[in-house]
Amino acid sequence: MHKPFAFLVSLLSIASFNPVSAQDLQLPKEPASVEVPAANPPAVDVIGMIAEHDEVNSALKLYSDIAFVSPQGSPQFLEASASGQYLRARLQSLNRAIARELGEPYRGDMRDRGQVSFRVSEELNDAFGFYGGTVAREERGVPIKEGYCKINYVKNNVPFLVQSDSFLKKGEVILTFDDGPGPLTEEVSAAMKAANAPSVFFVLGSKLGTAGKERVKKAAADGHEIAVHGYWHANEAGKPFTVFSTAEIVKQLGGVSASITGAAGRKPGFFRPPYGIITPEAVRALDSELGLVPVGWTIDTLDWSTKNPEELFNKTVALIAQRGKGIVLMHDIHDQSRIASKRLVKWLADNGYTVVSPERMTKAYRGE
Ligand SMILES: [Zn+2]
Repeated sequence: MHKPFAFLVSLLSIASFNPVSAQDLQLPKEPASVEVPAANPPAVDVIGMIAEHDEVNSALKLYSDIAFVSPQGSPQFLEASASGQYLRARLQSLNRAIARELGEPYRGDMRDRGQVSFRVSEELNDAFGFYGGTVAREERGVPIKEGYCKINYVKNNVPFLVQSDSFLKKGEVILTFDDGPGPLTEEVSAAMKAANAPSVFFVLGSKLGTAGKERVKKAAADGHEIAVHGYWHANEAGKPFTVFSTAEIVKQLGGVSASITGAAGRKPGFFRPPYGIITPEAVRALDSELGLVPVGWTIDTLDWSTKNPEELFNKTVALIAQRGKGIVLMHDIHDQSRIASKRLVKWLADNGYTVVSPERMTKAYRGE
């Protein structure tokens, strides 16, 4: 998996598509003390960011492919899905940063290489700890609530929340949307309401500014559940909750819960850890201290992995038809998800599925 030369390959390929001339960015040949100052720092930043963008894009392609061919919930699926989500967010922030420097939108290198550079691999290991090389300590997992959820340790002891949907009957579906609120939330919320599909929106506290609070208020008024995802996703650098102590998680999510209560007019009842990564101890503390029911998913649409709504819709209905029911994970921050989710609710109704109330999860978890 390590391709130490990918970084060099990326650098060599820059000249072919970089809108900034590569020659312009080379260090001056004259001694710096004559009249040419040292190389322009912002330009050097751009070339570094473009190289990084390529590497991240290439790794994202590989992890998307791995996620699609791995059984949902398997260790390699969870690794690929968490890595892919992380890399999608990294790519978006690199895109924004490069566009700021260039003064125009940046599309990037669209060639499909699909490999993980040494640098990206190191970064992912730093974020998640998948590749430490030690043997998993708890292969059997830690039960949280029989028939509802448990924590499985996979890939070098990374604790994943594993959700069951045994409490759903065939044909029953729960819809969830993560990582908002954002500019697309209002449309998704209204469409789900129109389709009589009460959904759960797992939101980020960092997005609950004035506009975000208004979006959340509208979604709650549309009859949806506004739930806790994190303040960030899950720390500012995109690392999972395992970087925090349980006390820190409870404090942080207590703040997010209060923001949601203020905006939506009622206290949130659910939380979902970013990437599904969280310890059993933290799950229990969030329930006992904040009254939050943990929620994973049983159908991951991998909507971050494609920009094509048609492809996303087809894959999603295939997954739902295959399983026959489930808790569906999408993100209301992607345009492909906005389009596909609107088609999805129509398809569900036309094919005999029912979108059931999220309250069913509370009942299953609390044993009511
Ligand atoms: Zn998320």
